[in-house]
Amino acid sequence: MNKKTQEKDVVIAGAGPAGLSLACALSGHGLNIALVDRQTESALKAPAMDGRDIAMTHLSRTILTELGVWQRFLKSHIHPLKEATVQDGDSPYALHFERTDDAEAPLGYLVANHHIRRALFEQASEQQDIELLPEREVSAVGSDGNRAWVDLGSGERLEAPLIVAADSRFSETRRMMGISARMKDFGRVMIVCNMNHQGDHRNTAQECFYYGRTCAVLPLAEGQSSIVITVPAARASELTSLCPEAFAQEAKRMLEHRLGDMELTSERFSYPLVGAFSDRFVGQRFALIGDAAVGMHPVTAHGYNLGLRSADTLATQVIKAASAGRDIGSPQVLNAYQLRHRLLARPLYDATNMIVRLYTDDQPIAKLARKAAIRVGNNVAPFKRLITHRLTQIR
Ligand SMILES: Cc1cc2nc3c(=O)[nH]c(=O)nc-3n(C[C@H](O)[C@H](O)[C@H](O)COP(=O)(O)OP(=O)(O)OC[C@H]3O[C@@H](n4cnc5c(N)ncnc54)[C@H](O)[C@@H]3O)c2cc1C
Repeated sequence: MNKKTQEKDVVIAGAGPAGLSLACALSGHGLNIALVDRQTESALKAPAMDGRDIAMTHLSRTILTELGVWQRFLKSHIHPLKEATVQDGDSPYALHFERTDDAEAPLGYLVANHHIRRALFEQASEQQDIELLPEREVSAVGSDGNRAWVDLGSGERLEAPLIVAADSRFSETRRMMGISARMKDFGRVMIVCNMNHQGDHRNTAQECFYYGRTCAVLPLAEGQSSIVITVPAARASELTSLCPEAFAQEAKRMLEHRLGDMELTSERFSYPLVGAFSDRFVGQRFALIGDAAVGMHPVTAHGYNLGLRSADTLATQVIKAASAGRDIGSPQVLNAYQLRHRLLARPLYDATNMIVRLYTDDQPIAKLARKAAIRVGNNVAPFKRLITHRLTQIR
């Protein structure tokens, strides 16, 4: 054995929200966990704002509470979502989601991505059984029947019965393991920023599928929202190069004045939209979680919720095997994870892409179908119940 080789039980490549969640979920069960990331320790510890406000379901809140993470959010960082509406084109008619079981309870919660990452990092770094290896690039990964290994750019090698990739939708570790993924370039860019506004957001998330652009309002504190504008790439560069005042005017116009006067209060962040669905979620002594398994279009706000579920599902299988003294990287453990997570992810991924396809098509026939879908959605009670149940179920 090379003197720079370390033996671990689980090596996780990527200390983003999914990798950190898995490390926290595995902690406390007699396993030695290594978490590798190319970012510096200070960037991981105090992540910079990236403009993403993550809409989280009640189940995500339950899982994060069990991990000891939710309790770390400041109250002022959690924004309850009371209702959600979806509108199409030039019509004021809206598909409406609200709770019918408990009018006082929120539909979901919004927490900024950098607060989620900071809280997860704090929780992980307090655990003795998690070793954080920052500023390390995964340069090679491999496995045989008995063990798996990760080589780092620093010259170190980590060996373990199980390697997990959580290194983004463009996962290099996935590619190194020879696992293919279907990528879908949506040809659009999402601009996200925080804005103050005159009007009341009524704690309602609003998705407006206009023609040629999609705009969303995610309600934060009073008089403040996260504004999400999705447009073709050339239009996105025009919008981000406007001065803050001109951008605020343009945002107000694009949102049809629904929030009154607006003021830009943060940087504008641009995200080119590319989806990814991995052809397999597991390999020999290897598993994919988070965006490395399924990278969703953000329109349905499933990405991290699904990534957290992947971490929770994999951790459950691994802990079950470890406590029974079985091999945690065996095909039995990994296939059980893959089966469960694919069953959950596939319909969500396909339905999201279908929504994107329909609501970015401005042909006359599609415009009719768009309006019809919203009316049908509003009037088919089981559909609304299913969506609301997905958002509010606890376990
Ligand atoms: C605009 C926007 C809005 C969104 N809104 C929502 C929402 O409302 N609700 C929701 O649930 N989700 C939402 N998402 C999705 C959510 O942000 C992602 O699903 C989530 O961040 C993915 O986490 P991850 O840990 O899988 O990957 P990432 O966040 O991409 O983290 C990957 C980590 O791996 C590290 N890494 C990469 N390659 C290597 C390597 N070779 N070696 C070492 N380290 C490496 C990176 O440094 C990084 O830390 C949104 C996304 C966007 C873009």
